[in-house]
Amino acid sequence: MNHLLGFRTGDQSLVRDINLSLIMSRLIEHAPLSRAGLAETTGLNKSTVSSLVKQLLDLQFVREVGFNLGGIGRPSVQLEINPNAGYIVSCELGVESIEVMFANFSAEVIWKRREAIDAPDQQEAIIRQLFALLHEAVRVSELPRDREDRLLGLAVGAPGLASAADGTLLFAPNLGWHEVPLQYLLQREFGNLAIFVENEANMAALGEYFFGVAQGYREVLYLSAGVGLGGAIVRNGLLFKGASGYASEFGHMTLDPDGPLCNCQNRGCWETFVSQRALFRLICQAIGAGQPSVLTALVHGDLDTLTIPLVVQAAQQGDRVALSALEQVGRDLGIGIASLVNGLNPDLIVLGGSLSLAGALILPVAEAEVDRRALRWNRQAASLKIAQHGTESCVMGGVAMVYQHILSYPGNLERWNR
Ligand SMILES: [Zn+2]
Repeated sequence: MNHLLGFRTGDQSLVRDINLSLIMSRLIEHAPLSRAGLAETTGLNKSTVSSLVKQLLDLQFVREVGFNLGGIGRPSVQLEINPNAGYIVSCELGVESIEVMFANFSAEVIWKRREAIDAPDQQEAIIRQLFALLHEAVRVSELPRDREDRLLGLAVGAPGLASAADGTLLFAPNLGWHEVPLQYLLQREFGNLAIFVENEANMAALGEYFFGVAQGYREVLYLSAGVGLGGAIVRNGLLFKGASGYASEFGHMTLDPDGPLCNCQNRGCWETFVSQRALFRLICQAIGAGQPSVLTALVHGDLDTLTIPLVVQAAQQGDRVALSALEQVGRDLGIGIASLVNGLNPDLIVLGGSLSLAGALILPVAEAEVDRRALRWNRQAASLKIAQHGTESCVMGGVAMVYQHILSYPGNLERWNR
């Protein structure tokens, strides 16, 4: 993993930051390590390592964990990341639900909760529900500690275009939101905390890169197929953001100029063919046309209550309607991926979001389509995998995002140690 991120210029503390970052990264990957071991693996000299480790110990980001008695020579003190260095609250504001969790500094999930959105059409009510859940997470995260100033940051992933400049949610097509100053509202509510607002697919991609199947890959394409279809690119551990932060909206590439109307107002976007909505639409059409399906009984006649696990269950029972809908979505997924494989030459494509719960049924069809369509050399470089954290990649990514911020700007670490 490459945690050394966010290079800056003209900054006197840059070298120190890079070196602190390097030490933290090595400890995340290889702990426990001694100071001598750190010097060896970082290439820094021993006195530099000792001075940097002292800073990290003072900040409590690192802790000593006894002696290594097994090696040759004098026993040495071992170091590791201090899981109690601080807590991170992370959240996904979805189209249908809100998930909130907090994790310790070792990225262990301590507490989490998912709630269905109470009033889907009411923006203010959704934001109130979001704040209430975040307050609960902050409250619970503070319980086991006597200090209240070690909440390191709060990250919110949202299903739309989040402005890199000020965290405004400019457009969330599947929520029908425009210009919501989410970061400003969060800052007003939660005060002087480091707050991050990011597109959910971007956040999820970071989650898989730091803590999931994308670890160690250099050119990662992430696709988040839920209610809509989001995308993200992680290059050498950094999100590819484009000119204004809105890159990777692959779900809104036109696949069929005369296709169904998308919530972005374009016709025939990829997400109108590859998403939970698209899958359910195909199933409803088939059943509406009179095809028999066990799904009718599984949802007790109410097709509005379809879920991906139910579709998977039906498919596993050999249900023709479920199988053919999944196959169609898998094919359309593969058609889009083939173009992206040609255009981006990724070494890994990760499928996440709720549709990934049907990944075992969808991905082989998509792979076959990519085999058929992509340039052979580009295809050979690219593996396809299901997201390790499934529908939780985004909240894991919030942890990664705060983490990445701390690792990239350790010069600000003092700030966390008020
Ligand atoms: Zn669209």
